[in-house]
Amino acid sequence: MPEYDYDLFVIGAGSGGVRSGRLAAQLGKRVAVAEESKPGGTCVVRGCVPKKFMVYGADYGAAIAEAKGYGWTVKDASFDWPTLRDAIQDEVNRLSGIYSNILEKNAVTLYRERAEFVDKHTVRLSETGREVTAETILIAVGGRPWMPEIPGAEHAIMSDDAFLLGELPEKALIIGGGYIACEFAGIYAGMGVQVTQAYRGGGLLNGFDADVREAVLEVQRNNGIDVRFSVSPKEIKKTSGGYIVTFDDGSKIGTDLVFMATGRKPYTAALGLENAGVKTDDKGAIIVDKYSKSNINNIYAVGDVTNRVNLTPVAIREGACFVETVYKDNKTAFDHTEIASAVFTRPPVGTVGVTEVEAREKYGDDFIVYSTSFRPMKNVLAGKPQKCMMKLLTHGKKETVIGIHIVGDDSAEIIQALGICVKAGLTKADFDRTCAVHPTLAEEIVTLKPKELNKTTVVS
Ligand code: NDP
Repeated sequence: MPEYDYDLFVIGAGSGGVRSGRLAAQLGKRVAVAEESKPGGTCVVRGCVPKKFMVYGADYGAAIAEAKGYGWTVKDASFDWPTLRDAIQDEVNRLSGIYSNILEKNAVTLYRERAEFVDKHTVRLSETGREVTAETILIAVGGRPWMPEIPGAEHAIMSDDAFLLGELPEKALIIGGGYIACEFAGIYAGMGVQVTQAYRGGGLLNGFDADVREAVLEVQRNNGIDVRFSVSPKEIKKTSGGYIVTFDDGSKIGTDLVFMATGRKPYTAALGLENAGVKTDDKGAIIVDKYSKSNINNIYAVGDVTNRVNLTPVAIREGACFVETVYKDNKTAFDHTEIASAVFTRPPVGTVGVTEVEAREKYGDDFIVYSTSFRPMKNVLAGKPQKCMMKLLTHGKKETVIGIHIVGDDSAEIIQALGICVKAGLTKADFDRTCAVHPTLAEEIVTLKPKELNKTTVVS
């Protein structure tokens, strides 16, 4: 048995890497982690956490406007972006420090530099050039934003840059119809920016339930966002006052900021994977089995770099399963089904389980759709037209609940509890015999009536 410097070397101190490293160290393993940026990864440094603060920031603006209907007069309200930006960065730095402390407290060595494979048991550290060996190597390097290489693409920002803007633009053009595009369009609109969201398809949030997609379009429009469909950017030109973006249909949009929210890719380039013989798929994602093991016996990968379900809590669970499997002699695979998640539009989307289209593919006609759409009480006095949409799908004679989709205030909070119900296999009868909490928005979920039976709505 060869002697290695460490039992485990983790590349990447994000959510998945830090959890795996800490748990392995707590079992007495000799662990090191390499991180080229700030510990905390995408979620803490340039993703979920700063984004959620920006959503809160945008919501305060809306709350001030709506407070009038509740009798409040707020004079001289104004928004100062640098104040919010800097406060968020302070908090990000504090949280990143906590991640470093977690590693330090558990006697994990943190190398603040890039690591690349030399062979399947060896990595080279970029700053010092030092080579370090480990019995097991875990790749947890996450993903990076990606944009199409069109002429003038260098003028566009991506999500990493959005947290650090020197000043807020008057007008912003956001390209894309996915999570990040929808969330940032809502954030900027809430901060007073004139936002256009341009998407190449025919409905926002591709892959989500059709009713969610329709409701989110209404959300964006109610927030004053000019949503344009069936357009792909072809060229970005810098002008004296901003940028002009030309689309494939010949249309042009003039703007102060172009934000490409056109997806993310696994961050596997230049990791030296070929030196270790680790296989990736055509998107650059590391191919792993259900225990997160790559094609090389001692090399594992968790989180976005494997492009399974790209969410922070999933990376954390995959990391915990990796430790169970490798260090506790307890083969554990994370179940990637029925994962509740949220999209932080304003109001947000909360979703768990199958969409109506997936239900039809899986169960034919053997499913029932329940749904409702109503104007939440709070919006009445606030003078807001925004409605809340709720939808629940059941399968079989027992009517097991197989999917829930909500677009409305607090849906990101509500869906966490409903995720437990779906994971536990509860039935519509269980929901029906649960007494409502009144007056709330969430109570509607226990009084739902069938939508027109099994009529699938399709959004292209
Ligand atoms: P998404 O995959 O959600 O969206 C990418 C968007 O870009 C899609 O609308 C896509 O269109 C469009 N697009 C792709 N290529 C092009 C192109 N060449 N020209 C024009 N448009 C293009 O990616 P995001 O970057 O928004 O988010 C990445 C992932 O990060 C998410 O899938 C999610 O897993 C995670 N995430 C989760 C969040 C949360 O939990 N709240 C928040 C943010 C991110 P099309 O649909 O036609 O392919």
